[in-house]
Amino acid sequence: MATTGGMITGFLLTALAGWGLYEYLPPQYNPFAPLSPSDPPTVVTRYKLRQLANDPAACMAVLRQASEQGMIQFREQSSTTGNCPLDSPVRVTRFGEVQLSSSFLASCPLALSSAMYVQQRAVPTAQQIMGSPLRRIDHLGSFACRNIYNREQARRSEHATADALDISGFRFANGQQITVRKGWNESGPRGEVMRELFSHSCAFYGNSLGPNYNAAHADHFHLGMRGFGICR
Ligand SMILES: [Zn+2]
Repeated sequence: MATTGGMITGFLLTALAGWGLYEYLPPQYNPFAPLSPSDPPTVVTRYKLRQLANDPAACMAVLRQASEQGMIQFREQSSTTGNCPLDSPVRVTRFGEVQLSSSFLASCPLALSSAMYVQQRAVPTAQQIMGSPLRRIDHLGSFACRNIYNREQARRSEHATADALDISGFRFANGQQITVRKGWNESGPRGEVMRELFSHSCAFYGNSLGPNYNAAHADHFHLGMRGFGICR
């Protein structure tokens, strides 16, 4: 299904190009305009993010732009070899005003999608529902050289290529902290902010899996680059 979605988008974009309509489109809808970290998440934005996965230099250029705009702080890391090789990964240390429970290793597309999600949606959502700035994201990690659910027969997890981040909770400037495990089913603003933070992530990642997906995700949001808008 993910592939079908990609093919349909590709087909539509080709058709639009044939009609010469791009020049009338705002950049976030124009697939030939370079991606900007502040582009709102349209289907074309998602398409551009996917294209960047095949073009490390272009991805790094946009990520540096995000850094210059204060959306993300990161360090470039050397590529690694071995069972789970990483091509030009980065270490993300914070998202502007939003700290992390610890830094995490990320593919360039994961770092970029995450910066866009945090700054465009998570920060305003926290302010709106909690009435307090988002201060910290707690996570369970991004890179692990393993198969899906650690099963021997399964294919490689997105975590094996640092293409997914597992978020376990959020902390706010007023001192409140909410974990995915407890907050997901809470009533009032604490539960609402949790569910909103999850649903907003769906526009920026290939797949977002949360507590409603299965018991393995009861305590975290898995935000990964594979797929084409899977959101459960
Ligand atoms: Zn995960």
